[in-house]
Amino acid sequence: MEKKDIASFGREELIQEMEALGERAYRGKQIYTWLHEKGADSFEEMTNLSRPLRERLSKEFEIVRMETVERQISKKDPTEKFLFGLSDGNQIESVLMRYHYGNSVCISSQAGCRMGCRFCASGIGGLKRNLTASEMLRQVYQIQRITGERVSNIVVMGTGEPLDNYENFVRFIHMISDDWGLHISQRNITASTCGIVPNMRRLAEEGLQITLALSLHGSSQEKRRRLMPVAGKYSLSEVMEACDYYFLKTGRRVTFEYSLVAGVNDSDSDIRELTKLLKGRNCHLNLIPVNPVKEREFKKPDSKKAVEFENKLEKNGINVTIRRERGSDIDGACGQLRRRYAVGKREN
Ligand code: SAH
Repeated sequence: MEKKDIASFGREELIQEMEALGERAYRGKQIYTWLHEKGADSFEEMTNLSRPLRERLSKEFEIVRMETVERQISKKDPTEKFLFGLSDGNQIESVLMRYHYGNSVCISSQAGCRMGCRFCASGIGGLKRNLTASEMLRQVYQIQRITGERVSNIVVMGTGEPLDNYENFVRFIHMISDDWGLHISQRNITASTCGIVPNMRRLAEEGLQITLALSLHGSSQEKRRRLMPVAGKYSLSEVMEACDYYFLKTGRRVTFEYSLVAGVNDSDSDIRELTKLLKGRNCHLNLIPVNPVKEREFKKPDSKKAVEFENKLEKNGINVTIRRERGSDIDGACGQLRRRYAVGKREN
Protein backbone atom coordinates (compact mmCIF):
# COMPACT_ATOMS: atom_id res chain seq x y z
CA MET A 1 0.00 0.00 0.00
CA GLU A 2 1.25 3.44 -0.89
CA LYS A 3 1.80 5.64 2.12
CA LYS A 4 -0.17 8.85 2.35
CA ASP A 5 1.62 12.19 2.13
CA ILE A 6 0.79 13.41 5.63
CA ALA A 7 2.09 16.96 5.20
CA SER A 8 -0.37 17.66 2.37
CA PHE A 9 -3.42 17.24 4.62
CA GLY A 10 -5.03 20.46 5.82
CA ARG A 11 -5.86 20.71 9.52
CA GLU A 12 -9.43 19.41 9.27
CA GLU A 13 -8.37 16.54 7.03
CA LEU A 14 -5.58 15.57 9.40
CA ILE A 15 -8.00 15.51 12.31
CA GLN A 16 -10.25 13.22 10.26
CA GLU A 17 -7.30 10.96 9.44
CA MET A 18 -6.50 10.67 13.15
CA GLU A 19 -10.12 9.96 14.03
CA ALA A 20 -10.13 7.24 11.36
CA LEU A 21 -7.21 5.65 13.24
CA GLY A 22 -9.28 5.76 16.43
CA GLU A 23 -7.24 8.65 17.85
CA ARG A 24 -8.59 11.74 19.58
CA ALA A 25 -8.95 14.91 17.54
CA TYR A 26 -6.26 16.81 19.48
CA ARG A 27 -3.67 14.42 18.04
CA GLY A 28 -4.40 16.04 14.71
CA LYS A 29 -3.37 19.39 16.12
CA GLN A 30 -0.23 17.97 17.73
CA ILE A 31 0.87 16.37 14.49
CA TYR A 32 -0.06 19.36 12.33
CA THR A 33 2.03 21.57 14.60
CA TRP A 34 5.00 19.22 14.40
CA LEU A 35 4.83 19.14 10.64
CA HIS A 36 4.00 22.75 9.83
CA GLU A 37 5.13 24.90 12.72
CA LYS A 38 8.25 22.99 13.70
CA GLY A 39 8.99 21.59 10.21
CA ALA A 40 9.60 18.05 11.52
CA ASP A 41 10.84 15.61 8.93
CA SER A 42 10.39 12.39 10.88
CA PHE A 43 7.79 10.88 13.20
CA GLU A 44 10.62 10.10 15.63
CA GLU A 45 10.88 13.78 16.50
CA MET A 46 7.25 13.90 17.63
CA THR A 47 8.11 13.17 21.23
CA ASN A 48 4.71 13.99 22.71
CA LEU A 49 3.20 11.06 20.80
CA SER A 50 3.45 7.55 22.16
CA ARG A 51 5.91 5.19 20.50
CA PRO A 52 3.17 2.84 19.23
CA LEU A 53 1.37 5.79 17.62
CA ARG A 54 4.55 7.02 15.97
CA GLU A 55 5.13 3.52 14.61
CA ARG A 56 1.61 3.30 13.34
CA LEU A 57 1.91 6.69 11.66
CA SER A 58 5.11 5.73 9.92
CA LYS A 59 3.41 2.61 8.52
CA GLU A 60 0.50 4.52 7.02
CA PHE A 61 1.98 7.90 6.24
CA GLU A 62 5.16 9.38 4.94
CA ILE A 63 6.77 12.75 5.43
CA VAL A 64 8.01 13.64 1.98
CA ARG A 65 11.54 14.98 2.15
CA MET A 66 13.74 16.97 -0.15
CA GLU A 67 17.46 16.80 -0.53
CA THR A 68 19.39 20.07 -0.69
CA VAL A 69 21.42 19.58 -3.87
CA GLU A 70 22.95 23.02 -3.95
CA ARG A 71 22.95 26.27 -1.97
CA GLN A 72 24.29 29.35 -3.71
CA ILE A 73 24.95 32.50 -1.72
CA SER A 74 25.09 35.75 -3.67
CA LYS A 75 28.12 37.95 -3.16
CA LYS A 76 26.25 40.99 -4.45
CA ASP A 77 23.11 41.08 -2.32
CA PRO A 78 21.53 39.21 0.60
CA THR A 79 20.05 36.53 -1.63
CA GLU A 80 20.47 32.76 -1.68
CA LYS A 81 19.28 30.19 -4.14
CA PHE A 82 18.54 26.56 -3.35
CA LEU A 83 18.24 23.56 -5.63
CA PHE A 84 16.19 20.79 -4.05
CA GLY A 85 15.93 17.18 -5.17
CA LEU A 86 12.49 15.54 -4.94
CA SER A 87 11.99 11.88 -4.11
CA ASP A 88 11.33 10.98 -7.78
CA GLY A 89 14.53 12.63 -9.02
CA ASN A 90 12.96 15.88 -10.23
CA GLN A 91 14.63 19.07 -9.12
CA ILE A 92 13.15 22.41 -8.16
CA GLU A 93 14.57 25.73 -7.09
CA SER A 94 13.68 28.30 -4.46
CA VAL A 95 15.18 31.66 -3.64
CA LEU A 96 15.59 33.45 -0.30
CA MET A 97 15.67 37.25 -0.46
CA ARG A 98 16.34 39.29 2.66
CA TYR A 99 14.69 42.70 2.78
CA HIS A 100 14.41 45.38 5.47
CA TYR A 101 10.84 44.21 6.12
CA GLY A 102 11.76 40.54 6.49
CA ASN A 103 12.75 37.42 4.60
CA SER A 104 10.92 36.50 1.44
CA VAL A 105 11.02 33.08 -0.21
CA CYS A 106 10.26 32.57 -3.88
CA ILE A 107 8.88 29.06 -4.36
CA SER A 108 8.29 26.82 -7.35
CA SER A 109 4.80 25.46 -7.95
CA GLN A 110 5.63 22.85 -10.61
CA ALA A 111 8.66 20.87 -11.75
CA GLY A 112 9.05 22.50 -15.16
CA CYS A 113 6.27 24.44 -16.87
CA ARG A 114 4.12 24.02 -19.95
CA MET A 115 3.37 27.68 -20.64
CA GLY A 116 6.38 28.19 -22.93
CA CYS A 117 6.90 31.95 -22.47
CA ARG A 118 9.60 32.85 -24.96
CA PHE A 119 12.00 34.60 -22.57
CA CYS A 120 11.74 32.17 -19.66
CA ALA A 121 14.14 29.33 -18.81
CA SER A 122 11.60 27.32 -16.80
CA GLY A 123 9.61 26.15 -19.78
CA ILE A 124 12.50 24.89 -21.88
CA GLY A 125 12.18 21.25 -20.84
CA GLY A 126 8.37 21.35 -20.62
CA LEU A 127 6.30 20.31 -17.61
CA LYS A 128 7.57 17.37 -15.58
CA ARG A 129 4.81 17.33 -12.98
CA ASN A 130 2.78 19.32 -10.50
CA LEU A 131 4.18 19.80 -7.02
CA THR A 132 2.11 18.62 -4.08
CA ALA A 133 1.14 21.06 -1.33
CA SER A 134 3.73 19.49 0.96
CA GLU A 135 6.48 20.00 -1.62
CA MET A 136 5.58 23.68 -1.88
CA LEU A 137 5.50 24.04 1.91
CA ARG A 138 8.74 22.18 2.41
CA GLN A 139 10.69 24.64 0.29
CA VAL A 140 9.91 27.25 2.95
CA TYR A 141 10.48 24.94 5.93
CA GLN A 142 13.78 23.69 4.57
CA ILE A 143 15.09 27.21 3.95
CA GLN A 144 14.13 28.19 7.50
CA ARG A 145 15.90 25.13 8.79
CA ILE A 146 19.07 25.61 6.77
CA THR A 147 19.45 29.32 7.52
CA GLY A 148 17.94 29.37 11.01
CA GLU A 149 16.00 32.46 9.92
CA ARG A 150 12.29 33.09 9.90
CA VAL A 151 10.42 33.66 6.64
CA SER A 152 7.69 36.31 6.66
CA ASN A 153 6.82 36.71 2.97
CA ILE A 154 6.20 34.34 0.11
CA VAL A 155 6.19 34.90 -3.63
CA VAL A 156 4.97 32.11 -5.88
CA MET A 157 7.17 33.17 -8.77
CA GLY A 158 9.59 30.31 -9.17
CA THR A 159 9.30 27.59 -11.76
CA GLY A 160 5.79 26.67 -12.83
CA GLU A 161 2.37 28.21 -13.26
CA PRO A 162 0.48 28.10 -9.93
CA LEU A 163 -2.93 28.36 -11.61
CA ASP A 164 -2.06 25.32 -13.72
CA ASN A 165 -1.72 23.40 -10.42
CA TYR A 166 -4.76 25.03 -8.89
CA GLU A 167 -5.92 22.71 -6.09
CA ASN A 168 -2.46 22.09 -4.68
CA PHE A 169 -1.62 25.77 -4.90
CA VAL A 170 -4.76 26.88 -3.01
CA ARG A 171 -4.16 24.15 -0.45
CA PHE A 172 -0.62 25.48 0.00
CA ILE A 173 -1.93 29.01 0.63
CA HIS A 174 -4.36 27.80 3.30
CA MET A 175 -1.69 25.71 5.00
CA ILE A 176 1.17 28.24 4.99
CA SER A 177 -1.16 30.85 6.50
CA ASP A 178 -2.73 28.48 9.06
CA ASP A 179 -2.13 29.55 12.67
CA TRP A 180 -1.25 25.94 13.51
CA GLY A 181 1.62 26.25 11.03
CA LEU A 182 3.93 29.11 10.03
CA HIS A 183 0.97 31.49 10.10
CA ILE A 184 2.30 33.70 7.31
CA SER A 185 -0.20 36.45 6.62
CA GLN A 186 -1.96 36.04 3.28
CA ARG A 187 -1.34 39.72 2.73
CA ASN A 188 2.37 38.89 2.64
CA ILE A 189 1.91 36.37 -0.16
CA THR A 190 1.99 37.17 -3.87
CA ALA A 191 1.26 34.65 -6.59
CA SER A 192 2.09 35.35 -10.21
CA THR A 193 0.15 33.99 -13.16
CA CYS A 194 0.59 34.14 -16.91
CA GLY A 195 -3.18 34.69 -17.12
CA ILE A 196 -5.23 31.49 -16.95
CA VAL A 197 -8.55 33.29 -16.95
CA PRO A 198 -10.99 30.69 -15.54
CA ASN A 199 -8.68 29.97 -12.62
CA MET A 200 -8.06 33.67 -11.96
CA ARG A 201 -11.81 34.04 -11.56
CA ARG A 202 -12.00 30.96 -9.40
CA LEU A 203 -9.19 32.31 -7.22
CA ALA A 204 -11.07 35.58 -6.82
CA GLU A 205 -13.87 33.58 -5.22
CA GLU A 206 -11.73 31.58 -2.75
CA GLY A 207 -11.95 34.27 -0.07
CA LEU A 208 -8.17 34.63 0.11
CA GLN A 209 -6.26 37.85 0.78
CA ILE A 210 -3.18 37.17 -1.33
CA THR A 211 -1.89 39.57 -3.97
CA LEU A 212 -2.31 38.48 -7.55
CA ALA A 213 0.40 39.41 -10.02
CA LEU A 214 -0.31 39.19 -13.71
CA SER A 215 2.49 38.63 -16.18
CA LEU A 216 1.62 41.17 -18.83
CA HIS A 217 4.84 41.60 -20.83
CA GLY A 218 3.07 42.97 -23.90
CA SER A 219 1.08 46.17 -24.21
CA SER A 220 -1.39 44.75 -26.73
CA GLN A 221 -2.90 41.37 -27.56
CA GLU A 222 -0.67 41.15 -30.61
CA LYS A 223 2.56 41.90 -28.71
CA ARG A 224 1.68 39.72 -25.77
CA ARG A 225 0.96 36.80 -28.03
CA ARG A 226 4.40 37.02 -29.55
CA LEU A 227 6.00 36.50 -26.14
CA MET A 228 3.45 34.28 -24.42
CA PRO A 229 1.72 31.36 -26.16
CA VAL A 230 -1.00 31.36 -23.46
CA ALA A 231 -2.21 34.69 -24.87
CA GLY A 232 -3.47 32.71 -27.87
CA LYS A 233 -5.90 30.99 -25.55
CA TYR A 234 -7.02 33.91 -23.38
CA SER A 235 -7.15 37.35 -24.92
CA LEU A 236 -5.76 40.43 -23.23
CA SER A 237 -9.22 41.89 -22.70
CA GLU A 238 -10.42 38.68 -21.00
CA VAL A 239 -7.31 38.70 -18.81
CA MET A 240 -7.83 42.34 -17.84
CA GLU A 241 -11.47 41.65 -16.99
CA ALA A 242 -10.38 38.76 -14.78
CA CYS A 243 -7.93 41.13 -13.01
CA ASP A 244 -10.73 43.62 -12.41
CA TYR A 245 -12.87 40.80 -11.07
CA TYR A 246 -10.06 39.77 -8.68
CA PHE A 247 -9.88 43.34 -7.36
CA LEU A 248 -13.65 43.58 -7.09
CA LYS A 249 -13.97 40.34 -5.10
CA THR A 250 -10.89 40.65 -2.87
CA GLY A 251 -10.20 44.39 -2.64
CA ARG A 252 -6.56 43.50 -3.35
CA ARG A 253 -4.76 45.66 -5.88
CA VAL A 254 -3.39 43.61 -8.76
CA THR A 255 0.28 43.89 -9.70
CA PHE A 256 1.25 43.78 -13.37
CA GLU A 257 4.65 42.44 -14.32
CA TYR A 258 6.34 43.58 -17.45
CA SER A 259 9.69 42.10 -18.50
CA LEU A 260 11.45 44.77 -20.52
CA VAL A 261 13.01 43.30 -23.64
CA ALA A 262 15.25 45.50 -25.80
CA GLY A 263 13.71 46.25 -29.19
CA VAL A 264 10.65 44.11 -28.47
CA ASN A 265 8.43 45.86 -25.94
CA ASP A 266 10.35 48.99 -24.84
CA SER A 267 9.29 51.58 -27.43
CA ASP A 268 7.29 54.79 -27.10
CA SER A 269 4.27 53.12 -28.66
CA ASP A 270 4.46 50.49 -25.89
CA ILE A 271 4.35 53.33 -23.38
CA ARG A 272 1.26 54.74 -25.08
CA GLU A 273 -0.50 51.38 -25.20
CA LEU A 274 0.44 50.51 -21.62
CA THR A 275 -0.88 53.85 -20.45
CA LYS A 276 -4.17 53.27 -22.24
CA LEU A 277 -4.43 49.81 -20.74
CA LEU A 278 -3.60 50.67 -17.13
CA LYS A 279 -4.64 54.29 -16.68
CA GLY A 280 -7.33 54.70 -14.05
CA ARG A 281 -6.87 51.15 -12.78
CA ASN A 282 -6.05 50.68 -9.14
CA CYS A 283 -2.90 48.67 -9.81
CA HIS A 284 0.86 48.61 -9.72
CA LEU A 285 3.21 48.00 -12.63
CA ASN A 286 6.52 46.25 -12.01
CA LEU A 287 9.13 46.55 -14.74
CA ILE A 288 11.67 43.70 -14.81
CA PRO A 289 14.57 44.20 -17.22
CA VAL A 290 14.61 40.74 -18.80
CA ASN A 291 17.19 38.37 -17.41
CA PRO A 292 19.14 37.05 -20.34
CA VAL A 293 18.74 33.28 -20.62
CA LYS A 294 21.42 31.38 -22.50
CA GLU A 295 18.95 29.45 -24.63
CA ARG A 296 16.96 32.59 -25.51
CA GLU A 297 17.99 35.49 -27.72
CA PHE A 298 16.40 38.32 -25.69
CA LYS A 299 18.37 41.21 -24.24
CA LYS A 300 17.49 43.79 -21.63
CA PRO A 301 17.47 47.50 -22.48
CA ASP A 302 20.31 49.50 -20.93
CA SER A 303 19.49 50.91 -17.54
CA LYS A 304 19.13 54.50 -18.81
CA LYS A 305 16.47 53.38 -21.26
CA ALA A 306 14.66 51.39 -18.58
CA VAL A 307 14.58 54.41 -16.27
CA GLU A 308 13.26 56.56 -19.13
CA PHE A 309 10.53 54.01 -19.78
CA GLU A 310 9.60 54.15 -16.10
CA ASN A 311 9.64 57.96 -15.94
CA LYS A 312 7.45 58.38 -18.98
CA LEU A 313 4.86 55.97 -17.60
CA GLU A 314 4.97 57.73 -14.26
CA LYS A 315 4.35 61.07 -15.96
CA ASN A 316 1.33 59.46 -17.60
CA GLY A 317 -0.04 58.70 -14.15
CA ILE A 318 0.88 55.03 -13.94
CA ASN A 319 1.97 53.64 -10.58
CA VAL A 320 5.23 52.00 -11.68
CA THR A 321 8.61 50.78 -10.36
CA ILE A 322 11.59 48.93 -11.77
CA ARG A 323 12.21 45.75 -9.87
CA ARG A 324 15.67 45.72 -8.36
CA GLU A 325 17.74 42.91 -9.72
CA ARG A 326 18.60 40.22 -7.22
CA GLY A 327 20.96 37.31 -7.31
CA SER A 328 22.11 37.84 -10.88
CA ASP A 329 25.40 36.13 -9.97
CA ILE A 330 23.63 32.99 -8.76
CA ASP A 331 21.63 32.02 -11.83
CA GLY A 332 19.03 34.55 -10.70
CA ALA A 333 16.68 34.38 -13.68
CA CYS A 334 13.82 31.99 -13.29
CA GLY A 335 14.62 28.36 -13.88
CA GLN A 336 18.26 28.85 -14.64
CA LEU A 337 19.87 26.93 -11.79
CA ARG A 338 17.65 23.93 -12.43
CA ARG A 339 18.32 24.30 -16.15
CA ARG A 340 22.08 24.25 -15.60
CA TYR A 341 21.69 20.89 -13.88
CA ALA A 342 19.43 19.54 -16.59
CA VAL A 343 22.02 20.19 -19.29
CA GLY A 344 24.78 18.81 -17.11
CA LYS A 345 27.97 20.24 -15.72
CA ARG A 346 29.58 20.32 -19.16
CA GLU A 347 28.43 23.88 -19.67
CA ASN A 348 30.08 25.24 -16.55
N1 SAH B 1 3.97 31.19 -14.19
C1 SAH B 1 3.94 32.41 -13.43
C2 SAH B 1 5.19 32.59 -12.57
C3 SAH B 1 6.40 32.75 -13.41
S1 SAH B 1 7.86 33.47 -12.85
C4 SAH B 1 3.79 33.58 -14.39
O1 SAH B 1 3.88 33.40 -15.57
O2 SAH B 1 3.54 34.69 -13.91
C5 SAH B 1 7.57 35.08 -12.31
C6 SAH B 1 7.79 36.20 -13.32
O3 SAH B 1 9.09 36.18 -13.92
C7 SAH B 1 6.81 36.15 -14.47
O4 SAH B 1 6.30 37.43 -14.69
C8 SAH B 1 7.66 35.70 -15.61
O5 SAH B 1 7.10 36.06 -16.83
C9 SAH B 1 8.96 36.41 -15.31
N2 SAH B 1 10.14 35.89 -16.02
C10 SAH B 1 10.39 34.65 -16.45
N3 SAH B 1 11.58 34.58 -17.07
C11 SAH B 1 12.09 35.81 -17.02
C12 SAH B 1 13.31 36.37 -17.48
N4 SAH B 1 14.21 35.65 -18.15
N5 SAH B 1 13.51 37.69 -17.26
C13 SAH B 1 12.61 38.43 -16.58
N6 SAH B 1 11.46 37.95 -16.12
C14 SAH B 1 11.19 36.65 -16.33
